[in-house]
Amino acid sequence: MTSILQAFSCADDYDPNSLPVDRARELILGLLQPVVGHERVFVRQALDRVLSEDVISPIDVPAHDNSAMDGWAVRFGDLAASDDTRLRNIGTAFAGRAFAGRVGAGETVRIMTGGVLPEGADCVVIQEVTKVEGDAVIIPPGQRKEQNLRRAGEDLQAGRPAIPAGKKLRPAEIGIVASLGIGEVSVRRRVRVAIFSTGDELCSIGTPLAEGAVYDSNRYTLWGMLTRLGCEVIDMGVVRDDPAALEAAFREAAACSDAIITSGGVSVGEADFIKQLMAQLGEVAFWKIAMKPGRPMAFGRIGKTQPDGADGPGAWLFGLPGNPVAVMVTFYQFVQPAIMKLSGIDPVRPVPGFPARCVEPMRKGRGRTEFQRGILSRENGEWCVRPTGAQGSGVLRSMADADCFIVLEHERGSVAAGETVMVQLMNGLV
Ligand code: AMP
Ligand code: MG
Repeated sequence: MTSILQAFSCADDYDPNSLPVDRARELILGLLQPVVGHERVFVRQALDRVLSEDVISPIDVPAHDNSAMDGWAVRFGDLAASDDTRLRNIGTAFAGRAFAGRVGAGETVRIMTGGVLPEGADCVVIQEVTKVEGDAVIIPPGQRKEQNLRRAGEDLQAGRPAIPAGKKLRPAEIGIVASLGIGEVSVRRRVRVAIFSTGDELCSIGTPLAEGAVYDSNRYTLWGMLTRLGCEVIDMGVVRDDPAALEAAFREAAACSDAIITSGGVSVGEADFIKQLMAQLGEVAFWKIAMKPGRPMAFGRIGKTQPDGADGPGAWLFGLPGNPVAVMVTFYQFVQPAIMKLSGIDPVRPVPGFPARCVEPMRKGRGRTEFQRGILSRENGEWCVRPTGAQGSGVLRSMADADCFIVLEHERGSVAAGETVMVQLMNGLV
C-alpha cells in the first residue's frame, strides 16, 4: 500500500497545521476503498443496506402496454379529425382482467387505469369527454395518437440494470425490487467500527461521578451516529490514559474492525503518548483542521497483527477530539463520508445546503470553517435561522436543540443580523 503520509505530502497544498475542511475530506476519501464482502438478504432486510451488484430487471415494467386513465380504448385511425365519431362498445379491459379479443374498425373497449391495451387499439380517450348511448360511444374530435398510454418497458426494461451497485436501498428501491418479483438481493457486508473513549477523567454510566470526573458521552453519540449509518459497532468502553492499556486497545481494535474511532487525547497539551502510540502502531497523520469546533484530529491506519505475526491490512483510524460537540461535528464532516465510502455507497455525494436569513449576529474568525448549531423557522415566506445559544464545543445541548448546522465559510468574518448564511439540514425527508 502506498504510504499514507507520502501520499499526503505529495499534494502541494498539504499543510497538516492548517488543513481546510474540504481538503481533509478529499484526502480521506481518496485513500479509502469499500470493504470486501457481501451477503444475500431478503428484500425487507435490504432496507438501508448498500447494493453490491446491479439489480437486473428480469421483466419489462410495465409488462404490457396499458391505460393511464379510465376511458375507452380506440383505434386512432377510426377517429374523424373535426367531427364526433360513433364507435361500438364490444367489451371491457380492467386492471388484471384483459379484453380477450381485438378492437376492429369502428369498435371500442371500455378500459380502466392499468388495463392492458387490447390488440388493435392504439389510443385511450378519457371517459369524461365521451358520451355513451346504449352500445354506442361518442368520441369528440381533437384526440392525439397514442395518448393516455403507458408503454411496456417504459419504466424498466428486461435485462437492463434497474438499480445500480453502490445504491443505498431506500423505500423506493425496496419497492422497485418487489415490483420486479425479486425476493433477495446482494448487499455489501456492514462496516465494522470499533470505538473507545480515552481520558482518566471519564466515568462510565452506572458509577457515581467522582470529583472532577465527567460521564463518558462520546461513545453514545458515536454509537448513535454509526448505528444510523448501518455499521456494526464494537464498543470497547473507556480506556485510561495509560500507554499499555491504550496499546492493547488499539491492537485489539485493529484486529477486529475496518475502522477505529477514538475520542480525546489528540489535542495540544494532552498526554503526548497517545499521539506517539498512534504513530508507533501505524501510519497516522495529525491534523490541525481549519475549523471550529474540532480542530485537532488524527487520521491514518493502525496495523493489524495476524496470528502468524505478519502485518495485516489494518484498520482506518479516526482520532477525534474529546469535546462532545467537536466529536459530532468532525464525525459528520469526515467520518460519515468515509464510512459511506467504506460501506460501498457510490457516489458519496456532498451534503446539500441552502441559504437562510440569520436573525442574530454571530462572531466568526476568518481562516476557518465554523459549524454553529442552528434552529430553522419559516418567517414571512422565507427560511430563517438562529444559533442555539451557547456554542462552546463542550455544550452538547447546542446539538440536541439544533435542527441544522450553520456553515460559516473559511474566508467569512462575523455575521450581522439579517445576513444570508448556508445551512445544512440535520434531518432529511427520506
Ligand atoms: P481531550 O481532547 O481529551 O483533551 O478532551 C477535551 C474535553 O472533552 C475535556 O474536557 C474532556 O473531559 C472532554 N471529553 C473527552 N472525552 C469525553 C467523553 N468521552 N465524553 C465526554 N466528554 C469528554
Ligand atoms: Mg483527554
